[in-house]
Amino acid sequence: MLKTKACPRCQGDIVQVADRDERYLSCVQCGFVLYASSAPRTAFPQGR
Ligand SMILES: [Zn+2]
Repeated sequence: MLKTKACPRCQGDIVQVADRDERYLSCVQCGFVLYASSAPRTAFPQGR
């Protein structure tokens, strides 16, 4: 999944990153991170 020119900071390309059960959007150009989930679950991720 890739959104071109979707970065609010640099107008770069945004890609969806899936890391285990964590999903977020990241800018390829500047590294801007945009979390897809509206509600952050916990400050301390637990379990593997
Ligand atoms: Zn960017």
